[in-house]
Amino acid sequence: MCGIIGVSGVRDAPEVIVEALRRLEYRGYDSAGMAIYQDGSFKRVREATGTHSVELLAKHVKDFQGSESVSGVGHNRWATHGKPSQENAHPQFDCSGRVAVVHNGIVENFAELKDELLSQGHLFTSDTDTEVIAHLLEVALGGTDRIDDALAEVFSKLRGAMAIVAMETSRPTLLACVRRTSPLIIATNGDEGFIASDIPAILGRAKHYYQIDDAVVASVELGEVRAFKLDHTEVEPREFVVTWDLTRAARDGYDDFMSKEIMEQPQAIRDTLAGRLQHWDTSGIQLDELRVEVEKLQRVNKIFMIGCGTSYHACMAARYAIESLCKIPVELDVASEFRYREPRLDEQTLVIAVSQSGETLDTIAALAEASSSGAVSLVVSNVVDSSMARMADSVIYTHAGPEVCVASTKTYLAQIVALELFAIYFAKLKGTSTTAELRSLASALEELAEKVGQLTNRFAEMVGVASKVENFERFYFIGRNVGFPVALEGALKLKELSYLPAEGFPAGELKHGPIAMLDASSVVVAIATRGRLWEKVMANLQEVKARGAKVLLVASEGDNETIAEGDAAFVVPETHPLLSPVLDTIPLQILAYHLARYRGFDVDRPRNLAKTVTVE
Ligand code: GLU
Repeated sequence: MCGIIGVSGVRDAPEVIVEALRRLEYRGYDSAGMAIYQDGSFKRVREATGTHSVELLAKHVKDFQGSESVSGVGHNRWATHGKPSQENAHPQFDCSGRVAVVHNGIVENFAELKDELLSQGHLFTSDTDTEVIAHLLEVALGGTDRIDDALAEVFSKLRGAMAIVAMETSRPTLLACVRRTSPLIIATNGDEGFIASDIPAILGRAKHYYQIDDAVVASVELGEVRAFKLDHTEVEPREFVVTWDLTRAARDGYDDFMSKEIMEQPQAIRDTLAGRLQHWDTSGIQLDELRVEVEKLQRVNKIFMIGCGTSYHACMAARYAIESLCKIPVELDVASEFRYREPRLDEQTLVIAVSQSGETLDTIAALAEASSSGAVSLVVSNVVDSSMARMADSVIYTHAGPEVCVASTKTYLAQIVALELFAIYFAKLKGTSTTAELRSLASALEELAEKVGQLTNRFAEMVGVASKVENFERFYFIGRNVGFPVALEGALKLKELSYLPAEGFPAGELKHGPIAMLDASSVVVAIATRGRLWEKVMANLQEVKARGAKVLLVASEGDNETIAEGDAAFVVPETHPLLSPVLDTIPLQILAYHLARYRGFDVDRPRNLAKTVTVE
């Protein structure tokens, strides 16, 4: 994964590129670099200082003053081949510095291509797989000035999922790009042309946005967009409408994106539900895209839910709703494991794949596996027209808006909401639940944003509760039933942000082993809202207290009996039991947020992580 930006005919190109890279930092930040065409050659600057790379790159903007700089490419790297260093940072050049390439993903056959190029006398200056692309382009270009034609020739030699943007010095206004699975968009504004990994990079600058299909070479030269397939048949660039505005993509007045995005959760839920619940009982819930006959969906007798990280937890949280309302077996799989265990799939299986970006490579691969075996597929994604959305038979979008913080918050809640909407849709389609049962969940969904708002408004109060465990070093999260995915998500958030050892368990499982780890230096966070298994959770809590662990509770508002059992408690409003994971997770987001900040860590850009994971 990484952030890619290319501009053509854009005044102050270095500044525009740095700003785009700032907005793309969520995609990777091992290093950053840009190459700008000036006076007949590329001037390149690169920084490899981790999260400070873009900041340092910005200081070079002044080096470009004095000569015209209107075209160039920039890149935030998330290293796969070669350590994060200046030499390995992109853009990568060919032997003579004529070609500049920025690349996202992996060239799987780079070793053999590199051997071949070395034997032809090419000189390499980095350990990246990317550099082979620059040298191959040098060969393919020969005496011509059509980087797009050269890219088509080179791309057919490359294996793996990737996105590439390339330019060369004899025609520096011509930017060319191509992709396989990894995301890229083209955009224009009058005479200006842009290519970027994601919309926020160019929000507020570009006016017309164009989708680039897999294995289509697209180019932009000033404001002119062109696209053709690898066999050189022309294709019409497909324009799409962007409704996000710049303010939603910026940090507003918040200290960081994470707190902003936590506070945006009520809106994310409202937007995800907008227009979908009014007529659920008469005309049903409309999926955003449905490319399969309803009869096929009706025949489904088994569901697999797949996702990675937080999206996997969203699947787990929503499984309870789907199983109980649709009376159908639901299996849950981590996407990277799913495809390798030879799951039994056929036309009566529905595979639900969940991914914030819709570009997560592990999930894409699992989805492809499902489709090839004839299963029906549904994607839940936050990005309209993402790769996964285009692959699937049906789609529900979470309208959470851009999420910049690497650790998911608002998309997580929106994913659960979207999946519970699906539970209502599917139960209605199959006639497996009474109208009263469905109505009870639908009305709880209608009230959900308001309750989430009550909680996020108490952000400061929850930080106060979190501060009681500031100096502890080990955390265990326990919950039962719908509280179990909450425990897992709470532990994951804490690991991601504060780097503290944290584990989540089903509360009933503690006594089968993990309890051995408990002592007075550990904190147990128990999800103890008044659900179906509340009494059993309370019993497990006694086991924990007997071992001297510090107890932090998530309890229902006004439930003094439960609150008295803990050393401190987060209180949450009551809701429909199937929606309690949405509310119960919020205090745990804030717990992780506070403990990370207390330790002085950057909550938006945790070490070793990236937002969109497009490697296997
Ligand atoms: N494989 C390339 C590298 O290691 C690109 C990585 C990325 O997507 O940032 O440089």
